[in-house]
Amino acid sequence: MGGDAPISVQSMTNTLTPDVEATMEQIRGLEDAGADIVRVSCPDEDSTAALKQIVAQSNVPIVADIHFHYKRAIEAAEAGAACLRINPGNIGNAQRVKDVVQAAKDHGCAMRIGVNAGSLEKDLLEKYGEPCPEAMVESALDHARILEDNDFFEFKISVKASDVFLAVAAYQGLAEACDYPLHLGITEAGGFQSGTIKSSIGMGMLLWSGIGDTIRVSLSADPVKEIGVGFDILKSLNLRHRGVNIISCPSCSRQGFEVIKTVETLEKRLEHISTPMTLSVIGCVVNGPGEAMMTDVGFTGGGSGKNTGMVYVSGLADHKIENDGMIDHLVELVEKKAAEIEVERAKEAAALEDQTAENRVTAAE
Ligand code: SF4
Repeated sequence: MGGDAPISVQSMTNTLTPDVEATMEQIRGLEDAGADIVRVSCPDEDSTAALKQIVAQSNVPIVADIHFHYKRAIEAAEAGAACLRINPGNIGNAQRVKDVVQAAKDHGCAMRIGVNAGSLEKDLLEKYGEPCPEAMVESALDHARILEDNDFFEFKISVKASDVFLAVAAYQGLAEACDYPLHLGITEAGGFQSGTIKSSIGMGMLLWSGIGDTIRVSLSADPVKEIGVGFDILKSLNLRHRGVNIISCPSCSRQGFEVIKTVETLEKRLEHISTPMTLSVIGCVVNGPGEAMMTDVGFTGGGSGKNTGMVYVSGLADHKIENDGMIDHLVELVEKKAAEIEVERAKEAAALEDQTAENRVTAAE
């Protein structure tokens, strides 16, 4: 994480952690949706005991959400957590911090310092009067210093707030003040629609300016939806691509087929494809051919009254099809194109590997 690594997308389970079966079911759903990292809360001993089984069964790195209790942090590190979400300033005395850091070092575990505008330290609130970007940055740097003093540098930082302006200003201040990887989030952003909009604006501004190494969209909704929104934010900014990016028009009276219904169905039918690719689904020739030129697969509706449209492959007009059966046909074409792209990617990766091996031999000679 950090540097040139792709920006990772994460979410958090909301099951009872000791219920390993339910928690794993949710983690599987998140993995299928493309989650790179999953956070699991560990408020008690039963949770850290279950964490061991969860880590063993999970295909993605698990972050243990600890908050305060140093013993839970040590247990989580021992259980194989990839990262502890904990603020060292909240653990208690210096020895406890040392013990947690040692456990993290012993088990190759990273940490996340998570500052939240809603739970700033008392002294900072007294100093600044209210939660503000400066107080949040100071809090983050105070926690970071504790880890640095313990010779521990494998950590990332978040400075979340539910207020978009506050969160953005805090992250901007933090990015100026340090080089640690940053975990972005607009916390308690709300329900699916408003939370998505707030997160897109806040994180979008930061990501656009090059700030952020991992993101979590916090929604009062199914965690799987958070992953979808996270990838859509990254896709919109051309920062990362996963799955089919559908370009579609809002439709109007010129549409040659029912654009909205078609796109809804295609979104569902193409969920299983993780290959980054584009599909344009446009109601008529006003914008259809232009959009199709830039996509892997495209469909443009014919004039009103006509029951046919043009299919585009790799940006070129390829053949006409009737509207009936068009969805099945497009799904088939997208699947075929995705397989071709994967073959090309595999060839490129193999060629790169060969080149690297050749360079190694030349260097050894
Ligand atoms: S592309 Fe055609 S159908 Fe779609 S909104 Fe524009 S004019 Fe209407």
